[in-house]
Order: sequence, then C-alpha cells, then structure tokens
Amino acid sequence: MEWLEIAVNCEPEHAEAVADVLARYAPSGVAIQQNALDLKGEPWGPDGPLEPVAAVRAYLPVDLEVEEKRRQVEEALWHLRQIAPIPEPRFSRVAEADWADAWKEHFHVTRIGKRFVIRPTWREYSPQPDDVVIELDPGMAFGTGLHPTTQMCLIALEEHLRPGDHVLDLGTGSGILTIAAAKLGAATCFATDIDPVAVESARANVTANQVQDQVRVEQGSLVEALNFKCQNLKAGFDFALVNILAKIIIELCGRGLGDALKPGGLAALAGLIDTQEADVREALGRAGFVVIERTQEKDWVGLMCRKK
Ligand code: SAH
Repeated sequence: MEWLEIAVNCEPEHAEAVADVLARYAPSGVAIQQNALDLKGEPWGPDGPLEPVAAVRAYLPVDLEVEEKRRQVEEALWHLRQIAPIPEPRFSRVAEADWADAWKEHFHVTRIGKRFVIRPTWREYSPQPDDVVIELDPGMAFGTGLHPTTQMCLIALEEHLRPGDHVLDLGTGSGILTIAAAKLGAATCFATDIDPVAVESARANVTANQVQDQVRVEQGSLVEALNFKCQNLKAGFDFALVNILAKIIIELCGRGLGDALKPGGLAALAGLIDTQEADVREALGRAGFVVIERTQEKDWVGLMCRKK
C-alpha cells in the first residue's frame, strides 16, 4: 500500500499544535521527531540553521479521498500559520515498508530538569542513581515532554512536591505530569481530562510506568476533582497541576479551583502567554491564590501559586 507522507518542520514548541492538526486527518497516528534534520541532512530554517527543530510527520493512505484530505490538511495548517510561524508542509509518496517503524528511530531519550528522563518505550536507557524515568509512548495525546509548558510543570514538581502529597492533575493529556508526581512519591494523584483519547492514553502510560496504585484517571474536569476531594481528602489537594490555556485556567478559577486545594497548598499553572498573564493573575487572586514564583520561556509563562 502507498501512503502520502505529510512532513512539517517547525520549532519544538509548535510541534504539539501541528501534530494535533495532522492527527485529525491521519488515522495511523502522528510522530514528532526531536532535533530533526531535513531530507538533505541540513538543519531546517528559512534563513539557515534554526536549532532545535522538530519534524512532525503523518501518513494518509493513498485512496480516493487522499486529495480531498490533503486539501483539508493544507487549509488547517494555513489557519494555524495565522497564529504561529509554521512552515509549509512537504508531501511525498512512500511505500508502507519505508515508514511503518522508521519514525521510531528518531525518538530519543530526553532529559528534563535535574532528574527526569523521558524514555520512549522502545528505547534502552540505563538510569543513573537519581534519575526519575518516565516511559512514554508518543503519537497520541498531548504531553510528550517537548512543550515548554510541560517542562515548566515537571521542574515545578521537582522543586516543590513533597513525598506523601495528594496531587491533582487537570488536563492530564498523556499523563506525563501525574506519572512524574507519582514517581516522586505522591501519595495519590487524581488526573482528569475532558478528552477520552487522552484518558485512554494516560491510563495506558500510568500502567506502563507501574504507578497505577497511586493514580486515578477520570474523564472530566474540576467537578470530578472536587467530588474526589470530598470523598477522599479531608483538607484538599496539596498540589495541583494545571497546564491548560489561559482562558480555561481563568474559568476553572471561577468554578472553585481554589476550593480543591488545602490552605497552604501549591498550584503549578502553565499554558498562558505573557499577554494573558494579568488576567490570569486577577482570576487567581479572586480564587484565593498568591503567586510565589514566575518562570518564562519565550512567550510561555509558568506561575507557581500558594493557596491562602
Ligand atoms: N498535562 C499535559 C497535557 C497538557 S495539554 C502536559 O503538561 O503536557 C492540555 C490538556 O487539557 C489536553 O489534553 C486537553 O484535552 C485538556 N483539557 C482542555 N480543557 C480542559 C478542561 N476544561 N478540563 C480538563 N481538561 C481539559
């Protein structure tokens, strides 16, 4: 069988958004390759090398609908290009044998913060004494560890989580942050996502990492978390992770995010860009949070908060 390969090389922070668009059209999954080289072996860039680079690839079966799907992909990427510098996609026809497992070669072990190591499930890695290894099968829900906001939350966990904490992870995606918290010694992690695909993938990754005894993943959002709190935790969660867009963080603040945490509890928030920060801070203030730390990477802002 023949396949149409769609390849987009972009900055790593945009790779998840591109993968999200391609996943709508490519039933066989989407692969993100870190530190990519283009077909000529040159680092990609309109004006020369641009480091680091991510390549996102997806495959469409060549059938009667392929031209229509190609047009839809181009249109969807055009829309994305209005808000982020995404280059034009490259299309090429390939035989199945050329790609079925080939993309896996490009996924590498990634180190984040001082101790976290993201290991694609098919890679070998010999852990160093202090490493916290997270096994992930990418090509599914958001959360490969590549995005700066995910990295900010991982570093916040590394610096602030205490063993025995009860953790809430809203918008868990692949489950990456929950797995990280569990491996750092959280007593319980309650993770939710509104997307059933994310819930399925988070559950699979939780099991693969053998943290299922500490973790519960439910489809839903804050309401489910508040129910869990009422039934299982006296004072509330010790630590909340919320890596979702600013608009949703503000909405969650208005709906009782503050009530989910115990007094003195911590919340790591990411997913906002600097121009949205003032609005998010205002909502956090109203929900009873005090910002105690701020990090920024490019436009992305991470806020560490304490519940009064
Ligand atoms: N926590 C992961 C994934 C973040 S992406 C990481 O840090 O990498 C954000 C996720 O939030 C997506 O999986 C999306 O489906 C989910 N989401 C969006 N709105 C939500 C809401 N209101 N409540 C819960 N999850 C939500």
